[in-house]
Amino acid sequence: MKKYDVIVIGAGAAGTMCGIESAKRGRKTLLIEHNKQIGNKILISGGGRCNFANIGASHQNFISQNEHFMKSALSRYTQYDFISLVESHKIEYYEKTLGQLFCKKSSKEIINMLLSESKKAGLEIITECKVFEIKKNENGGYFLRTQNDEFICDSLVIATGGLSFPNRGATNFSYQIAEQFDLDIVKLRPGLVPLKLDINKNLDFESISGVSFFANATCNGVNFKESLLFTHKGLSGPVILQISNYWNSGDKISINIEPDKNIKANLLSNLKSSLLVKNFLGKYLPAKFADIFCDYFSFNKPIKSMNSKEIDNLISTLENWEIYPVGTEGYKKAEITLGGINTNELSSKTFETKKHSGLFFIGEALDVSGWLGGYNFTWAWSCGWAAGQYV
Ligand SMILES: Cc1cc2nc3c(=O)[nH]c(=O)nc-3n(C[C@H](O)[C@H](O)[C@H](O)COP(=O)(O)OP(=O)(O)OC[C@H]3O[C@@H](n4cnc5c(N)ncnc54)[C@H](O)[C@@H]3O)c2cc1C
Repeated sequence: MKKYDVIVIGAGAAGTMCGIESAKRGRKTLLIEHNKQIGNKILISGGGRCNFANIGASHQNFISQNEHFMKSALSRYTQYDFISLVESHKIEYYEKTLGQLFCKKSSKEIINMLLSESKKAGLEIITECKVFEIKKNENGGYFLRTQNDEFICDSLVIATGGLSFPNRGATNFSYQIAEQFDLDIVKLRPGLVPLKLDINKNLDFESISGVSFFANATCNGVNFKESLLFTHKGLSGPVILQISNYWNSGDKISINIEPDKNIKANLLSNLKSSLLVKNFLGKYLPAKFADIFCDYFSFNKPIKSMNSKEIDNLISTLENWEIYPVGTEGYKKAEITLGGINTNELSSKTFETKKHSGLFFIGEALDVSGWLGGYNFTWAWSCGWAAGQYV
């Protein structure tokens, strides 16, 4: 039986950061990962370029039953601390949009940086290792039975993430262990996820799959303005992924197709135009979409032959197109898991569970979910760092 001061299970963003910080403090630390390599999600993130942080991140970019929980960790290890680390490894990055920082070359650079920091700190890493059993020792600490060995440790950190992208190694391990230790879990559901539409109740989105434009989406009083993309199954693109975090089954999403395009003003000053509505809209929106949109809402006539009621109807549809998604594309396509271990169960300073001394949970497994745009990694680094100071 091998003895460690600290064992961290899950070598994603949060777990690896926590392991490095713990080892830096001189704690004999082991990081266990069941995949072949660490940071599988980091690798595929940001289209292979890892949107590793957001310059403007604050607690307001997160969803949780306790909107204050993330403040402490975010303020002690900020996005700027992580940016400094990235810079110290000479990784080139750029701001794509809205404060989103991406690697110029590849996500692999972030993985290599974490591996190099792990080595420097003396963090031991075992990959391809499944954990079969965890038990609390009567005289303190925890016992682990794994595929490779049996271990005991004083502090145990569960950093095995959420349910999204099971083909990349996501499991329900975090929630299983939370249940074993009698911790409350806030209802789980896919987040940052494409939404499905019923083809019989909507315009022919299948035929415009791949078409995208800038739009405003509102759901339950929350609003985002980013790109919207049609898919074979319904809607995606950043604006839909963002709003999906606020959408619950049965909710309506209002789409404003026209933000910043001045379509309304130009339409009102061209009421005598003999242009077909679809050709007029085609000046501002992808022609294929304008075509399908006008067909579906029966706007397929010249502007000058529309009466005032029809003009009002066109403007209101452009500004407030109401859609009722029938579901999400699920964890296979979701970037994150909403909900998770109830933050009431943990200290926001140390991430230790209140019920079990020496047992910590960090990362996406918690009921803390970020917007699209580097916020989820910002959270993973911050809480991993914070827990690393106490384990
Ligand atoms: C396609 C995609 C793209 C994304 N892009 C971005 C982005 O650009 N920017 C951003 O901020 N966020 C992005 N995210 C979200 C981000 O990846 C996650 O929020 C973040 O990785 C969560 O970190 P974590 O350490 O908590 O969990 P994870 O990164 O999921 O790490 C958990 C680790 O635990 C391991 N594990 C699971 N079960 C076990 C087990 N039983 N035993 C041992 N190990 C186990 C997993 O293999 C994994 O390595 C993206 C997500 C996806 C799916």
